Amino acid sequence: MTEIIDGNAVASQIREDLTDAIETLADAGARPGLATVLMGDDPASETYVNMKQRDCEEVGIESYHVDVDGDAPPETLYDEIGELNGNDDVHGYIVQAPVPDHVDYREVIRRVDPAKDVDGFHPENVGRLVAGDARFRPCTPHGVQKLLEAADVDTEGTDVTIVGRSDIVGKPLANLLIQKADDGNATVTVCHSRTDDLAEKTRSADIVVAAAGVPQLVDGSMVGEGAVVIDVGVNRVDADNEKGYELVGDVEFESAKEKASAITPVPGGVGPMTRAMLLYNTVKAASLQEDIDVEL
Ligand code: NDP
Repeated sequence: MTEIIDGNAVASQIREDLTDAIETLADAGARPGLATVLMGDDPASETYVNMKQRDCEEVGIESYHVDVDGDAPPETLYDEIGELNGNDDVHGYIVQAPVPDHVDYREVIRRVDPAKDVDGFHPENVGRLVAGDARFRPCTPHGVQKLLEAADVDTEGTDVTIVGRSDIVGKPLANLLIQKADDGNATVTVCHSRTDDLAEKTRSADIVVAAAGVPQLVDGSMVGEGAVVIDVGVNRVDADNEKGYELVGDVEFESAKEKASAITPVPGGVGPMTRAMLLYNTVKAASLQEDIDVEL
C-alpha cells in the first residue's frame, strides 16, 4: 500500500507543538509577532496573506498587516520595511511576492532585517544556510524535510532528485538535504528546464521532489518502484466546476501513486507545511530576539 503523506495532519501537529513555546514567550511578556506586507491587490496574494494571519490567530501569535498601494514608488515600501525593522513587537515579517514590476524584489529582500527575515530569503540567511548554520530554514523546503521525517523517511545515503532550482524551493532544499545532518546526508541532483533526460534522473531517485510549476510534469513512468514522491507544485488548471478551476500538483498523482511507496497529495501535502513552518520561524525569531530559550 502506498502511504499518502497527510500534510494537514503533520502541520497541525507542528502548530500544536509550537503552542507551549508561544505561551512561554507570552508569559515573559514577549508574545511572538508576525507582520505581512502586501503591495498591490493581487487576489491570490490577498488570500495567502489572510491565511497567514488566520494561522497566527489560531496559535496565539500576534499578527500585523501593512498594505502598500500597488502604484506607489518603491521608497514607500522601503519606508514600511524600515518601520517594521524598528518595531520591537514584530519579530518577523514577510513581503508577499510577487511585488509589482516596478519594484526590485531582490532589493526588497536586502532591506529586511535578517533577524526578522522569517522567509529566510535575505542573502545573509541564504549564506548561513549554505554554510550549515541556518538561522531560518525557508518554509517550503523545511516543510518538505518535516514531511519526510513524519513519514519515517531517513534521507541519509538516499539519492534525491529535485525538479526545479528556484531560490525559494529547489536550491535551498538541495542545500539542506546535502548537509551533514540527521535530516540531510543525501546525494542530490537538481534539475531544471535545461536538464537533459529528466525522466532518467527522476526514475533513478529514492526521493523525487517536484517543484517546477508545471501541471503533472512527473508521471508514473518517471518514478522508480518504491520511491518517495513529494509534490510541491500548486497549479491552477481549468475545470468544469463552480470555480472554473482546480488545483493540481507537478505530479500526476494517480500514476505516480502506483509506483511510489509514499506520496504527498495536492492539496493537503506541502502547502499546509509551508504555512506551519512560517509560524515556526516566527517563534524562533521571537526566541532569538528576546533571548528566551524555548523548545522547538
Ligand atoms: P519557479 O518558477 O521559480 O521555478 C521553477 C523551476 O522549475 C525552475 O528552476 C525551472 O527551470 C524548473 N522547470 C520548469 N519547467 C521545467 C521542466 N519542464 N522540466 C524541468 N524543470 C522545469 O517556481 P517555484 O519554485 O516558485 O515554485 C514551483 C512550484 O511550487 C509552483 O507550482 C509553485 O506554485 C509551487 N509552490 C508551492 C509552495 C507550497 O507551499 N506548496 C510554495 C512555493 C511554491 P529554469 O530555472 O531553467 O527556468
